[in-house]
Amino acid sequence: MRVLGIETSCDETAAAVVEDGRRILAQTVASQVATHARFGGVVPEVASRQHVRDVTQVVARTLGEAGVSWGDLDGIAVTCGPGLLGALLVGVSAAKGYALATGLPLVGVHHIAGHVAAAFLETDLVPPVLALVVSGGHTEILDLDEGFRFTRLGATKDDAAGEAYDKVARMVGLAYPGGPKVDELAQRGDPQAYDFPRAMLEEGLDFSFSGLKSAVAGEIERQKRQGEAVRAEDVCASFQQAVVDVLVEKAARAMRQTGRRTLVVAGGVAANQGLRRALTARAAEEGFAVRFPPVRLCTDNAAMIAAAGCALLARGRCDALTLNAHAQLSLDAWQAGRV
Ligand code: ATP
Ligand code: FE
Ligand code: MG
Repeated sequence: MRVLGIETSCDETAAAVVEDGRRILAQTVASQVATHARFGGVVPEVASRQHVRDVTQVVARTLGEAGVSWGDLDGIAVTCGPGLLGALLVGVSAAKGYALATGLPLVGVHHIAGHVAAAFLETDLVPPVLALVVSGGHTEILDLDEGFRFTRLGATKDDAAGEAYDKVARMVGLAYPGGPKVDELAQRGDPQAYDFPRAMLEEGLDFSFSGLKSAVAGEIERQKRQGEAVRAEDVCASFQQAVVDVLVEKAARAMRQTGRRTLVVAGGVAANQGLRRALTARAAEEGFAVRFPPVRLCTDNAAMIAAAGCALLARGRCDALTLNAHAQLSLDAWQAGRV
């Protein structure tokens, strides 16, 4: 089964062709990072306009590179939420247009289901698995069953892990998106320099990162007030250790509670070196398998949307041309077909 995936939920216009949910035949991304960098974040209206400008070219180039024509495809998958509404609408409208013109089945993919599906690309892994989702807007523990159905076991009460990374990056003067740069600085710092809080560590599968963010802000304030040079490496290392300790503890707890054998880690923060090391060590200790997508597939891409689309189409899910874009979309609403 060959599926075209389209992803325009934020600041990247992306398309990919994926075979059987595993093999990437081609992948194209038109990034808007440079455009938004001078604003210090993504400007929604600007993002929408660039998606409109780029989407058909990105799709055409992807099909060309994959060496397939429309007749070689079995379906079209598109991110239908959550994300920036105007940006999502461009991808959804394009996908609907292609589906109408070609008669191919259309399926709307929840962005987070896509992030999780990235873990199956270029592997022979099959569900059931437990997923630790750590992205810019989400921090969740999800159970994924054989039927590709998600059950949410825990989630953040406030900030997402990636959001905390980006805010700490800004505090120590690193440019947006700062997560990878904090990761890099952390490698050179002392993770025990500051004892930052690990919220809700002792019980449950939920998370909270806003207290940690405030503690980091407080420590930086203190250093500045006392005329010290801000020790960015140590702050980043200690912050990262606090985040990683919580993520590892909760993931291990969820594995014990559910008895699942494999943990997959998904979303941009899955690229984090400290998290990869710590989770790999804990998995070995506790005897479960842990899988991380290759770094380039952790952040937003269209291959993950095509992969999820394959899994869904193979199980008979197909959406009507009334498919809409949803800025807010829960996994439950999406799974129930309220799209
Ligand atoms: P969502 O998927 O929840 O809608 P998003 O699409 O913005 O949010 P992703 O693309 O999954 O998020 O990931 C981007 C996030 O990952 C950013 O917050 C970024 O700082 C963070 N990130 C990327 N690489 C790393 C890293 N090596 N260490 C820590 N954080 C990272
Ligand atoms: Fe994302
Ligand atoms: Mg993004």
